[in-house]
Amino acid sequence: MDFAFDTRTEELRERLLAFMDAYVYPAEDVAREQRERLASPWDTPAVVGELKAEARRQGLWNLFLPDGEHGAGHGAGLTNLQYAPLAEITGRSPNLAPTALNCAAPDTGNMEVLAQFGSERQKKQWLEPLLAGEIRSAFAMTEPEVASSDATNVRTSIERDGDEYVVTGRKWYISGAMNPDCAVFIVMGKTDPDGADVRRQQSMILVPRDTPGVEVRRAMRVYGYEDHGHGGHAEVVFDHARVPAWHLIGEEGGGFAIAQARLGPGRIHHCMRLIGMAERAIELMCRRAVSRTAFGRPLAEQGVVRNWIADARVTVEQLRLLVLKTAWLMDTVGNRGAHTEIQAIKIATPRAVVDILDRAVQLYGAGGVSQDFPLAELWAGARTLRLADGPDEVHQRSLARRELSRYA
Ligand SMILES: Cc1cc2nc3c(=O)[nH]c(=O)nc-3n(C[C@H](O)[C@H](O)[C@H](O)COP(=O)(O)OP(=O)(O)OC[C@H]3O[C@@H](n4cnc5c(N)ncnc54)[C@H](O)[C@@H]3O)c2cc1C
Repeated sequence: MDFAFDTRTEELRERLLAFMDAYVYPAEDVAREQRERLASPWDTPAVVGELKAEARRQGLWNLFLPDGEHGAGHGAGLTNLQYAPLAEITGRSPNLAPTALNCAAPDTGNMEVLAQFGSERQKKQWLEPLLAGEIRSAFAMTEPEVASSDATNVRTSIERDGDEYVVTGRKWYISGAMNPDCAVFIVMGKTDPDGADVRRQQSMILVPRDTPGVEVRRAMRVYGYEDHGHGGHAEVVFDHARVPAWHLIGEEGGGFAIAQARLGPGRIHHCMRLIGMAERAIELMCRRAVSRTAFGRPLAEQGVVRNWIADARVTVEQLRLLVLKTAWLMDTVGNRGAHTEIQAIKIATPRAVVDILDRAVQLYGAGGVSQDFPLAELWAGARTLRLADGPDEVHQRSLARRELSRYA
């Protein structure tokens, strides 16, 4: 077993690390200051556009889109295994780096859906500007009224009317939708609510933001944060929003299958970035521990602090190996073959990284919960990933079912 990265990955890693040092970390404070002066906090600070232009110029662009039948020609053509260590690096600055490289959720998952299931017309209209970083997008599935971790519960209706579909429903926690650059929603709803097969009732449809009947109603908060960096998480109402029939993605009843395909890569990308967040937490912990003194000696000399740092390092090394193994399986046996490992990393990574960030917050004292260090925001972001893309318990249930099926 060879644990070394290949030449292309190493070369991209070096370029990306240099890009982070030269452009991304210095832009963190600039973006915060610029946002305070914007007419709306949801507008994109100018420095983000500059980062995108520079990343594109340097060829650090659309790295997420794997090679193969569907991705070929659109992205950098990397395998999941090649992309994993790069996504990890972007996770160190999760509000800026993924966007700078056009590798931010939910656009990445939406681009994958369009690349894999979209018609030529849909690709021209939305995939091309998304790949060029000219527009943003959102994915609208979760509904306040129903337990949405079970996609069969979704109530939004997508009703055929002549050569149009009429979309009616209420969604919330729709990431990115507060950003005015978010031009289109991929909406999950039901075209056949009474169909016998509950997994064939759903469809996905593209609804442009400016469609009459679409209202981005309010920004939902995350532990009190509005999460400006990720374009917020909006409540969105679709009140008889009419779109042409060609906006349907794939066929009627295909929504469930598309969702399954979309969420595999999305989950591993989150886990890769979470490891980068944990690495940043360890770095911040070490810097603080050696530079701050309490009761006559540096915090680094307290046994408990050393334990936190050592445990964090052990955990990160374990997680990284599992994420890389999962990426390798996705490349070699496909997303289906990597099902158990995808579930395993989705369960293990957010939980463990929340724990590491919590210790880092503790080490920083009041500073840890403040706005002056990134830890509080990183903690809130990591914590939500125990819910987003499916709560831990749903993945545990599904993993256990597979495990038990071998003995039934
Ligand atoms: C920051 C953030 C961003 C998000 N972004 C998006 C987005 O862009 N688009 C989108 O559509 N959604 C998004 N979501 C929503 C997210 O995907 C849902 O919150 C999640 O799928 C759970 O659905 P729910 O909130 O309806 O919880 P429910 O389905 O009501 O579940 C509540 C709890 O019940 C328990 N539970 C549920 N099922 C089981 C089970 N089978 N076994 C044991 N326990 C179970 C779990 O503990 C679960 O947390 C986001 C959420 C957050 C917090």
